[in-house]
Amino acid sequence: MNAQAIAEDDQVSDIMDIAQYNTHGLCPGYVLRRNKAEAEADGGSEDARADWVKYIGPIDRYGSWNPFNGHVCATLYPTCLPERLRLVSYLWEYAFMFDDKLELEKVGPTHVRSQPFARSQSEMDAHQIKVKPPQNDAKNEWEYMDPAQGKTFIQAQMIAQLAAADSDQACSKRIMRTWQTMLTTTLHGKDKAFTSLDEYLDFRIVDTGANWVEALLLFGLQISLTPEEDALLFHLRHPCYATLSLANDYFSFDVEYVEFLSSPQNSPRSFVNAVWLFMQWHGVDVDEAKEMTRLATIEYAERFLVVCSEFRKKGEVSAKVDRYLRALAYQVPGNVIWSESCPRYFPERMEERAVGHGGGVGNGHEGVKNEHVGNDVPSNGDVSNGHFSNARMDVKVSV
Ligand SMILES: [Mg+2]
Repeated sequence: MNAQAIAEDDQVSDIMDIAQYNTHGLCPGYVLRRNKAEAEADGGSEDARADWVKYIGPIDRYGSWNPFNGHVCATLYPTCLPERLRLVSYLWEYAFMFDDKLELEKVGPTHVRSQPFARSQSEMDAHQIKVKPPQNDAKNEWEYMDPAQGKTFIQAQMIAQLAAADSDQACSKRIMRTWQTMLTTTLHGKDKAFTSLDEYLDFRIVDTGANWVEALLLFGLQISLTPEEDALLFHLRHPCYATLSLANDYFSFDVEYVEFLSSPQNSPRSFVNAVWLFMQWHGVDVDEAKEMTRLATIEYAERFLVVCSEFRKKGEVSAKVDRYLRALAYQVPGNVIWSESCPRYFPERMEERAVGHGGGVGNGHEGVKNEHVGNDVPSNGDVSNGHFSNARMDVKVSV
């Protein structure tokens, strides 16, 4: 990487010593960075959770926050512009809660899931954005209103904020388009019987939200790609998306498996996780299947570096595309170090931390030290902002 590129990335992020993290060997040769404006990411999550509680309902699951290795948007998007990080984080947190809520509702394919953003987009296209909160005097609006109405309001608000920040609308439209695709794909793939890793990844890459995650990345970088650039970069993205998706399966398996086993008739019958699929395909136990998933994750991580290197050798790469490729690569270790320690997948770690700090779980405000940046954050608390609940996690919209 040239000195100018390093200096550009240094302005907004710090290089972290990856040897200090338990990467499970999943990101060999990668550089780990962390956004300097992490407080903005924390703020965006808190805003989103407060709005959700006010307009939609209570929260009982962890989201983006990670007091051990950093907020997911700080580790996944280290070079996101600081003035855009709060909104990116808001959308990320909303997606987590949206997905959790839908899992709990077990809604059918004709429910509200894909509708609100479509309405908001058409409103934006017509330049008739009207963001108006539901009216009543209650502290928690959700006690008196249809949650779908709350979702519509929050999503319209997000669209308005994206539009205001994104002058040519290219990034914001990409975010909405990929959101729709993700939801449609997810709804139609739950009972699919996958027969190979390639077939699964074709589905999973969309299901896990990789394109949507990338759309947020582009917005955060204030970069829009032309259709020609998109086509040119298509083959580069695939191994990156694949390793992000597989790493998610690897780290979130345990918490998802408990939920799968406890669901009525194991429904949906096909558990969307590579570890489970390896168990089915090869008749192996959890540990062996996890190792297969780990090795597949590494294979795609290595492949991504190779294709990027070959691409750069072929000819001159524009500064924009180079910055984009660097940002894609930062996602790989950022995803790993967030996932291996986040309360969303490992809620028990918060209980251990709380005990270690001499406090009980569920009512304390004694604070847990963020080990790498030194921010004091509450260790636990009520579910009104949801960072600190003890409930199990389930994830689909994530990397
Ligand atoms: Mg998962």
